[in-house]
Amino acid sequence: MNLRDWSEHELGAEGRVLAVVHAPNPVLTSSSAAVDPTDPEIVQLAADLVATMRVSPGCVGLAACQVGVDRKVFSVDVTDHPKARTSHGTFVLCNARVVEASRKERGREGCMSVPDLTGDVKRATRLTVVGVLPGTGEEVVVETDAFEARALQHEIDHCEGLLFLDRVAGAHAVFPRKTYL
Ligand SMILES: [Zn+2]
Repeated sequence: MNLRDWSEHELGAEGRVLAVVHAPNPVLTSSSAAVDPTDPEIVQLAADLVATMRVSPGCVGLAACQVGVDRKVFSVDVTDHPKARTSHGTFVLCNARVVEASRKERGREGCMSVPDLTGDVKRATRLTVVGVLPGTGEEVVVETDAFEARALQHEIDHCEGLLFLDRVAGAHAVFPRKTYL
């Protein structure tokens, strides 16, 4: 299906708001396991990630490890974000991987699991990701740019046990967060 037409209603599961874990919780720094996207537990997890993302101000993506589940699943939604160009709306991907990345640019990032800091991270601004939709198990190819590309790379990093702090150029590129947005 066209990813822009997908919404969490496709899941047929009621999302629950889960607690977000903070660094240095070890679940954030270990690599997550690949999943069966058709497993009902993964479908429920997908709904929970969307529900938790929605109630969190300024949150544009949330990975399963951030709610304490070491599985390769994340949600993204950069709709209406001022730095976004292409946006596919709300979606959840399982077992996602980057297949093409180019045109790196430095940009500011924050993370729900690192609430007191932001950092400047170099990321590709042209990106192609392949992942699988929870529920149907359909493989989708996501071609995107700008802020949605950044959000996807940030979430795929979470699935590999990496935080934005692992990607900054050094201490000079880390800043105290003044406001959550
Ligand atoms: Zn994060």
